[in-house]
Amino acid sequence: MTSLLVANIGELVTNSRALGDGSALGVCRDAALVVDSGRVSWVGPRADAPAADARLDVAGAAVLPGFVDSHSHLVFTGDRAREFSSRMSGRPYSAGGIQITVAATRNAPDDVLAANVARLVAEMVAQGTTTVEIKSGYGLTVPDEARCLAIARQFTPETTFLGAHVVPSEFADDPAGYVELVTGAMLTGAAPSAKWIDVFCEEGAFDADQAMAVLSAGKAAGLQPRVHANQLRHGPGVTVACEVGAASADHCTHLTDADVDNLRGAGVVATLLPGAEFSTRSAYPDARRLLEAGVAVALATDCNPGSSYTTSMPWCIALAVREMHMSVEEALWSATAGGAAALRRDDVGTLSIGSRADFTVLAAPSYVHLAYRPGVPLVAETYQRGQRIA
Ligand SMILES: [Zn+2]
Repeated sequence: MTSLLVANIGELVTNSRALGDGSALGVCRDAALVVDSGRVSWVGPRADAPAADARLDVAGAAVLPGFVDSHSHLVFTGDRAREFSSRMSGRPYSAGGIQITVAATRNAPDDVLAANVARLVAEMVAQGTTTVEIKSGYGLTVPDEARCLAIARQFTPETTFLGAHVVPSEFADDPAGYVELVTGAMLTGAAPSAKWIDVFCEEGAFDADQAMAVLSAGKAAGLQPRVHANQLRHGPGVTVACEVGAASADHCTHLTDADVDNLRGAGVVATLLPGAEFSTRSAYPDARRLLEAGVAVALATDCNPGSSYTTSMPWCIALAVREMHMSVEEALWSATAGGAAALRRDDVGTLSIGSRADFTVLAAPSYVHLAYRPGVPLVAETYQRGQRIA
């Protein structure tokens, strides 16, 4: 593979304190970067840049690590635009709407589901995402969960089995029987295509004991746990996530002081999904409380057709800054290195020596523009392993 010199970078974010200005973002001004065999091999002042086989002159633009979207639900078909519009007219959100997407997804052939994932991943890439986690959870039968995960696996190694999304209507009178299925035959069918196991621990979905049973069975099958926790009201999700050693507790909208202490103590990343609060017109999570307590915070889209139908990490950054009072620096870190931490990855989300050369070139001189110019398509180019993918 040939080497590539990315020259004339006005502002380079490395997320490495050892490089650049010593901040968490590791910002280098008037910088250059060299990619060799898909990895970053050199970072420094542009005047000192070594020669390479190819040269990309970004003319003073900002260059950032590709976004790591650590929470999405892309394997489905249909949309729920009418539900959104009626919610905006005053109807509250509940977990039940998931059943509509489950029915549509079960009836869709593989190629239709795969085409929908491809379309959404292309949207993500065009907006600077270079690593995405994709969950199942709209099949909820043994064969449908297995095929949804096999489809997700075509797009990313970060696949998550979410058979415990809701209890499907055919098990409404037998939730215990459904948990037995999820932890038995469904897990067996899902495991070959899944890296992670997740559960929607929430009133109306799964309680603490059921969540623990699902996550423990997943761990025994070689999957790593993550949890949908404390989204709609206070509940046991964060406690479960910390007890089971989850990589991440996602949503964290309703937390007690004990939950915050628990997250920090257990080293569980709090993944905030402000697109969900926006799309359900709900109160945002208290990001400042988590940050000030020293909890690692990630930002992700939660892309799904019910409660957050966005693929845009830049928009989530803008929301986090404006609505959750995160600084632009904190929001950018959370959308890159934070997402990587939530997936226990140290090769992405940073641009230090040896990192995967996943980066974006902005049509702007600074990362600040991501929040300063909300809704504007500022990602000019996206590179993965040093190759231009958008
Ligand atoms: Zn979710």
